[in-house]
Amino acid sequence: MKKITIAIDGFSSCGKSTMAKDLAKEIGYIYVDTGAMYRSVTLFALRNNLFDADGNINIEELEKLMPEIKISFKFNPSTGRPDTYLNGELVEKEIRTLEVSNHVSPIATIPFVRKALVAQQQQMGKEKGIVMDGRDIGTTVFPDAELKIYVTASPEVRAQRRYDELQAKGMPANYEDILKNVQERDYIDTHREVSPLKKAEDALELDNSHMTITEQKQWLIEAFKKVAK
Ligand code: C5P
Repeated sequence: MKKITIAIDGFSSCGKSTMAKDLAKEIGYIYVDTGAMYRSVTLFALRNNLFDADGNINIEELEKLMPEIKISFKFNPSTGRPDTYLNGELVEKEIRTLEVSNHVSPIATIPFVRKALVAQQQQMGKEKGIVMDGRDIGTTVFPDAELKIYVTASPEVRAQRRYDELQAKGMPANYEDILKNVQERDYIDTHREVSPLKKAEDALELDNSHMTITEQKQWLIEAFKKVAK
């Protein structure tokens, strides 16, 4: 079977990471969560006080510090999934807080941030055999990907999923706050100037609002088998 590139794009909290991770595991591909990379830059910016009280970013300072931000992934055998490291520190939990979620979309609109992360993502995928999820994978990072999936679900369904996820991890969660965050991020992600979230023309669309994880997995495996013959 030939190795291909699989690009999975879609709105926040639509379950695409779970789908992408499970698929990668099943077919023995590398999985890259590009949202974790934008989240890591955001965590770095928060820790270095690069946001003012109104949420404005000190762009000049961030640009200066950008070369100091090193993001890497290490496979975690106990979860079967890669963990995210920021400058050698395991930050998997820290990058998933609502504080980071509330600050990440403005960070992801900054052209020099996108340029740096897209270049790293392209490097990671140059041997193919990769499943990458994000917002601009099928449109910007790998426009020639053999399989592109565009995942959607209603904002309410997505907010509920993120709420359940945080609860299960014992992290503080408020449904209304999460829904607001999901809607705000949708708006910023689809309206930004650089690489806005949009369906690539040749992407297959999957609305998983009313699908179980098992159903999504089957759908995805079928789509993969059709392409990677
Ligand atoms: O996928 P996740 O929700 O973790 O992504 C966090 C944020 O990072 C998104 O809301 C989006 O603003 C940004 N992002 C992006 N491009 C990607 C992946 C994520 O702009 N390829």
